[in-house]
Amino acid sequence: MTNSQMITATLFDGKVRVCVLNTKSVLEEGKRIHGTCHTVTAALGRALTAGVMLTADFKEDNNRLSLIINGDGPLGKIIVDANHKVHLKADIDFPVVNMMPRESDGKLDVGGAVGNDGYFRVIKDIGLKEPYIGTVNLVSGEIGDDLSEYFFFSEQIPSAVAVGVLVSPENEVIASGGLLAQLLPGYEEEHVVFLEALLESMEGGISKWIKDYEDPKELLAVLLRDEPYTIGTIKDISYVCECNKEKLLSILASIGREEIESLIEEGGAELTCHFCKTQYHFTGEELSQLLES
Ligand code: ZN
Repeated sequence: MTNSQMITATLFDGKVRVCVLNTKSVLEEGKRIHGTCHTVTAALGRALTAGVMLTADFKEDNNRLSLIINGDGPLGKIIVDANHKVHLKADIDFPVVNMMPRESDGKLDVGGAVGNDGYFRVIKDIGLKEPYIGTVNLVSGEIGDDLSEYFFFSEQIPSAVAVGVLVSPENEVIASGGLLAQLLPGYEEEHVVFLEALLESMEGGISKWIKDYEDPKELLAVLLRDEPYTIGTIKDISYVCECNKEKLLSILASIGREEIESLIEEGGAELTCHFCKTQYHFTGEELSQLLES
């Protein structure tokens, strides 16, 4: 099986940028960690894919972002963190929801699980004094539309976004990934037409194409057909959490003196990282030292 990867290419003298992603292996890891049900597996795969797409313009090693999707639906909110190396991690409030497939087409109801009464927020730290925060209202909770809305209104980049996940009846990930096509400064009408045709050419939805062409490089070649393009970057994507005991201790330090004192009385504390579910144990002695410092 191919590893999760993102490939970026430009066409028409750099006026169009296309990114193709396979995120199957990172979704499998996210699913394992969070124990997601079918519908939330699909939502998580789309959110991870969107998170990777948002890193497409990252240049510096210290660039990182958080994507927060909060739609007031049964799964609560999803948070995806990503950095320049495309190390991803995610957290979901409720990984198991009770949702029927959509009546209209029998597909998993991602929009229903996410909800559409809320926001899609991106916090980008690209090494400036303050992080950039962009928020748009959710369009459908299907995540692809919402990301497209974000790119247009927050970053002023007209974008076509397709994200898709296929999950088997046994809740196995069959395919996960997406396509992002963006019009860059200087674009012309013919490039808009090209983008529309590109999206239309993906009959049966993006997930079917990712299933058939697991290697993003191959999928890119198939989708762009005769159009000449230049490959920019090929990046491996992985699910990585950089948590450690020290980081968790600093979170513990923020809960306040009284709380820590009561934990000491209880003989210690158990803390679980939201993103990777690693458990950390702090003894009463360690907590006393925390109070002293
Ligand atoms: Zn962790």
